[in-house]
Amino acid sequence: MAIRKIVKGGDATLQKKSRAVEKFDERLWQLLDDLAQTMHEANGCGLAAVQVGVLRRAFVIDTGDGVLELVNPEVIGREGIQREQEGCLSFPGEYGVTIRPAIVKLKAQNRNGKWCFYKADGLKARAFCHECDHLDGVVFKDRWIKEM
Ligand code: ZN
Repeated sequence: MAIRKIVKGGDATLQKKSRAVEKFDERLWQLLDDLAQTMHEANGCGLAAVQVGVLRRAFVIDTGDGVLELVNPEVIGREGIQREQEGCLSFPGEYGVTIRPAIVKLKAQNRNGKWCFYKADGLKARAFCHECDHLDGVVFKDRWIKEM
């Protein structure tokens, strides 16, 4: 495992769309391990591959109950809305309020390529949506309704 350098706001990489992961090999596992370690070291609750300069559709989150690894995630359901303050490891010290679904359902592959289903609310729902946005080149500032 290794700590990778986090791409910071202003870097055009963050606006790029990530490509699907096709190979579930040691290179992917290394990336997922490094994402988790880098996220924890930075005290974050989510980190997408694009944030370490790798344009692949993968991210990790940890909202307090362990690391989840999502590869090729797709949102398959949204219910309700929540308005909460949000930050991003690529924009240290910057916070704003965004509107996210109250409940979000996703499907994603795990590190071995198996499809898994997730249903989340609260912080975890926000983290899922925030990281999925990164894979499409969207950053949380694009969704701010109020800057803090
Ligand atoms: Zn972010």
